[in-house]
Amino acid sequence: MSDTPLPAPLHDALLSLLGPAGLLTDAGDTDAFCTDWRLLYHGRCAAVLRPANTEECAKAVALCAEHGVPMVPQGGNTSMVGGATPDNSGKAVVISTTRMTRILNIDHADLTMTVEAGVTLKAAQDAAWAEDLMLPLSISSEGSADIGGVLATNAGGNNTVRYGNARELALGLEAVLPDGSVLDLMRKLRKDNTGYALRQLLVGSEGTLGIITTAVIQLQPRPRSRETALCAVADAKSALDLFAAFRKQDPAAIQAFEYMSGTSMALVNSLIESCPLPLSEPAPAYALVELGSPRNDDSLRTLMEEVLGQALEDGLVTDAVLAESETQRQNIWMIREEHAEAQKRAGASVKNDVSVPLAAIPDFIAEATKSCEALIPGIRVAPFGHIGDGNIHFNLVQPEGADAKAFLAQDHAMMDTVTDIVRKFGGSFSAEHGVGQLKTYMMPSWRGGAELETMRKIKAALDPHNLMNPGKIFLQG
Ligand code: FAD
Repeated sequence: MSDTPLPAPLHDALLSLLGPAGLLTDAGDTDAFCTDWRLLYHGRCAAVLRPANTEECAKAVALCAEHGVPMVPQGGNTSMVGGATPDNSGKAVVISTTRMTRILNIDHADLTMTVEAGVTLKAAQDAAWAEDLMLPLSISSEGSADIGGVLATNAGGNNTVRYGNARELALGLEAVLPDGSVLDLMRKLRKDNTGYALRQLLVGSEGTLGIITTAVIQLQPRPRSRETALCAVADAKSALDLFAAFRKQDPAAIQAFEYMSGTSMALVNSLIESCPLPLSEPAPAYALVELGSPRNDDSLRTLMEEVLGQALEDGLVTDAVLAESETQRQNIWMIREEHAEAQKRAGASVKNDVSVPLAAIPDFIAEATKSCEALIPGIRVAPFGHIGDGNIHFNLVQPEGADAKAFLAQDHAMMDTVTDIVRKFGGSFSAEHGVGQLKTYMMPSWRGGAELETMRKIKAALDPHNLMNPGKIFLQG
């Protein structure tokens, strides 16, 4: 039993609404919902509610609101910023979407998919693929992150460069508001200019305005041909020049363009057994490029070979491997996708998920690397990310053998060092992971004045008692 139990009348009402499978109160069952993926936050909760559909969710939220109980929406619990973890008071309930897992419809005429919030991104992708379609949102956590979570955080990922963020893919939404009322925005329309676009307000709101329960997601035709290459380059500038070379030939063919520093690649190669470097020797940096086309022809291969051939001749690329089969393609992608896991295994790390204009990336990386190395001698600066979108995960891994706690005690100094440089280049302190609880302290200086005030007014209008995911996005008090 939780050490901060729910008031008995609320407990009984929730039990009769959700049944035993939908109401977890034993600490042994709730602990996993109170710890984040990075193991930075260990909160407590009075219970975990697992509604099976929108109606149950709405009734549960209304009951909690009536009793003044704070609520923390949670999907796959892969937040990088502690967004889905309750605080330490033990007063809140976690509302998990993990039982809302129905794929309701795949519409071939409109190229859409209607899904409940708890469908994992991977399950949604697989269902679209089985019908010859593609859900073009791809992130390394897609096996756990779910549709509600990716919309609530406006997730980006590997295919943003071509298809946009989650926001661009969300045509319709249904959400339970903090008082338990249901906001039905389940339209499938690509054109609909009828007042404020409320669905866009919910996308990226990180669970602070309501719980997304169902969504209509835009799909694409499934690519018939794909070409994938891992290239060794001298630095971020060369990677960007290679990106520009592909963009000049055929911007619409670029499905993904990723950057990996030599340091972050070396961590993956040494700490993840299944991910050796598939090139003859290590390089200072790498670019992963994927081209895709709904046509089944050789033109993509020709494009890839022509651009890479020229880049090798010009010295822009020093070595490259092209995937010759789907297995090889997946192996190349696995190397990219294991970056977060490898850094987790390397010890404590401080993540700076930042964006700057493309042209500023090389100077940003050089300057931020120098400043961080001066701040903490021996620090492992391991940037990687979606360079085609101007998005770099400028991650800092503790010096080998250092004390993890002592390293993390300096997290604000490290984050501020990096973001001061980001600010200078006109960037953002969070490109895709959101604010959560980790970065609330940055909001006043980055989004202060009328911008933050407007956000506060919206929050107060929809959630006057601050019950929906308190302590996230906004500093408390
Ligand atoms: P959770 O972690 O459960 O929740 C995240 C936030 O959304 C919380 O604020 C929560 O309260 C809220 N929320 C969750 N569900 C709902 C709902 N139904 N309604 C309203 N609010 C809700 N992110 C990227 O954008 N791009 C990447 O490339 C990327 N790569 C990652 C790789 C790894 C290995 C990991 C661990 C994370 C990565 N992330 C990435 C971050 C994370 O996976 C995304 O933020 C993801 O969108 C979160 O989905 P989730 O279901 O796990 O949400």
